[in-house]
Amino acid sequence: MSRLLVFTFAFMVLCAVHCYPSEGSSDISAEQEDNPIYDKSLKDEEEDGEEDEEGGGGEEEEEEGEEEAEESDVSTLLEKANKNVGQALDEPTVIGDIAVPTDLGNAEPCTAHRCRWRKSKNGKVYVPYVISKRYTRRERCIIKHGMRAIAHCTCIRFRRRRRQRDFLKIQSRSGCYSFVGRRGGGQVLSLNRHRCVRHKIVQHQLLHALGFYHEQQRSDRDRHVCILYKNIIPGRAKNFRKIITNNLGTPYDYNSIMHYGRYAFSKNGKPTIVPIPNRYVAIGKAKKLSRIDIIRINRLYGCGRSE
Ligand SMILES: [Zn+2]
Repeated sequence: MSRLLVFTFAFMVLCAVHCYPSEGSSDISAEQEDNPIYDKSLKDEEEDGEEDEEGGGGEEEEEEGEEEAEESDVSTLLEKANKNVGQALDEPTVIGDIAVPTDLGNAEPCTAHRCRWRKSKNGKVYVPYVISKRYTRRERCIIKHGMRAIAHCTCIRFRRRRRQRDFLKIQSRSGCYSFVGRRGGGQVLSLNRHRCVRHKIVQHQLLHALGFYHEQQRSDRDRHVCILYKNIIPGRAKNFRKIITNNLGTPYDYNSIMHYGRYAFSKNGKPTIVPIPNRYVAIGKAKKLSRIDIIRINRLYGCGRSE
């Protein structure tokens, strides 16, 4: 019994240290600016305008190896996985990896309150889900691990649905996508078995479902990144649309799990997103929730505060 208590206490301390960065601390941006992570792959990249012809020398990339996928930007994986997304009759319209409600025809900004999941009296936010039987045990385990990682650091709790009206339907559809925030009723969160069941993609999609957009779509993004429209695949500029987001007093985060990589939707192998003022800072390389992602979830849902 006492061993259990010691263990529980140790776990709480660990979680507090790792997960709850000093809320309200104003040092977040300073810390971020003081310790930029540089994108080493860029060391030889030259000025805009020079370089690599289209097609990249005819490299054939077949099945991506585990290791390679592990190193890839989350947006690179999403882009590959979603090549033919949303074409089935029973699928929603998908822009990039964001499902758009058919009644709106366009991505409506999900402002903090309306599309939040409800908080219960005990201060936890239960997000009910049902998960498709098509996943193997291993795939389920990865998905649940993604859920637990969010729960460990926040007041969000993903729970099997009982009778709740609003819930996530986690299914292996044609790609990786989610609606942004709670839509009402059962809403699909698609994680294709073969292409999307990876920790970082699971977390990325769960964050969409909790109400978050891509970091580079933030209302203040122009102060932190430059979008190079001339390099974007025709028709894909929608993925870079700026949105009136609720930034919850958090700084722009190059290391967010929601940030696209430098070459997202590039038509010519040249960057589409360049950080400013320092173009060599790494972007979109997160493999899990960043410290600021966690702060943001806690702030959006008022974790630690009773309503
Ligand atoms: Zn996304």
